[in-house]
Amino acid sequence: MLKKILICTCVLLGAYTHAQKDEAVIKSIYKASLTNGKSYDWLNYLSNQIGSRLSGSLGAERAVEYTKEELGNLGLDKVWLQPVMVPKWVRGAKEYAYIETVPGKTTTVNICALGGSVATPSLGIKAQVVEVHDFEELEALGKEMVEGKIVFFNRPMQADLIQTFEAYSGCVNQRYEGAVQASKFGAVGVIVRSMNLRLDDLPHTGSMTYNDLPLESRIPSAAISTNDAEVLSTMLQLDKNIKLYFKTNCKQLKDVLSYNVIGEITGSEFPNEYMLVGGHLDSWDLGDGSHDDGAGVVQSMEVLRLFKTLGINPKRSIRVVLFMNEENGLRGGNKYSEEAEQKGETHVFALESDSGGFTPRGFHFNCSEANYQQALSWQELFKPYLIHYFEKGYAGADVRPLKSKDNVLVGLVPDSQRYFDHHHASTDTFDAVNKRELELGAATMTSLVYLFDKYGIQ
Ligand SMILES: [Zn+2]
Repeated sequence: MLKKILICTCVLLGAYTHAQKDEAVIKSIYKASLTNGKSYDWLNYLSNQIGSRLSGSLGAERAVEYTKEELGNLGLDKVWLQPVMVPKWVRGAKEYAYIETVPGKTTTVNICALGGSVATPSLGIKAQVVEVHDFEELEALGKEMVEGKIVFFNRPMQADLIQTFEAYSGCVNQRYEGAVQASKFGAVGVIVRSMNLRLDDLPHTGSMTYNDLPLESRIPSAAISTNDAEVLSTMLQLDKNIKLYFKTNCKQLKDVLSYNVIGEITGSEFPNEYMLVGGHLDSWDLGDGSHDDGAGVVQSMEVLRLFKTLGINPKRSIRVVLFMNEENGLRGGNKYSEEAEQKGETHVFALESDSGGFTPRGFHFNCSEANYQQALSWQELFKPYLIHYFEKGYAGADVRPLKSKDNVLVGLVPDSQRYFDHHHASTDTFDAVNKRELELGAATMTSLVYLFDKYGIQ
């Protein structure tokens, strides 16, 4: 009996010591990130010295060189570039649009071309507008009502959804597939309400597709600011014969060579088990991509830097991957997982930060029940940092191709209320990122990687 009590006490003491040690390590991680972190300086350089990083642009090329060099300074075991061919789309001169109520009487509106769109003819397009809110409404109108007109998709993001990414998902098909759907009925162009919850004057870009439509059937597609979407809608209610003029100057060029940037700390016990942290290095061109996804890039780099500076030797190999081309092709994410599969690399864990650099709230887990329960058992450790949201859910676009039945995919979940004010717009800039919020995110990611590495995947 005495022996049994002793064993129990030892087990309890052991567990107590483990928990205490974890508490201390996590405290040191947050402290290092908040008092001596590098993430904000890196973001400052990426945003203000390099700027926007659309795939195939000079900015993207410079970002590859810069982040490779910075990772090289961290004393990692390996740093390398993974070549990947990416699409190159250029916006050209700034777009122009107006509403014409009667010939000669016009109101200018703010638009921007959607990524991947063809341009309007050089003189622009002027046509009547038909407003719809979804594809069913478009289909009900049919060719008779749509042919020769500009289709205006005006379904707003749903304001009562607390998770703004859900509101985004509920709307984004208008932007992504609007042109394909509208061209079926003979539309000459597409204007989409910007994916933004607030009313302002900013057009928000983003990717769109033509699927396999032949070149001659492709119609130009642009986003309009939410304020101007409201104006256009109101004017259409007053007079459905008003016209919209718009001119865009964008162009799809040939694919070009680019890179994913990768750094690794090789594991001490299980070097062939990989744990990945990442964000995407490319961004849209209107702002400088500080939230989307400069924040995720520098937070992921900071995870490895914190492991090194705090002297935490991981059992498993920890990789930071800065993916290229998430925004308009996902080529980087796909390439990485294809090569991992070819090389037989086992990725037991992958954590993506691509939801903005705002105050972290927790994580989305895409994993087995056992691994989810394990993560839940660590919730107490995160409480002092106000990290409480541990839910099953979507991890991120770049890591998704790595999903296997056994591994753990995680998405960092920051507060999302302000994200879509900036997303893909000219206001996605460095000043919109708060230093402490960014650093808290990096520390939160590092702590989770530390725990999963220490206790393993179930
Ligand atoms: Zn992103």
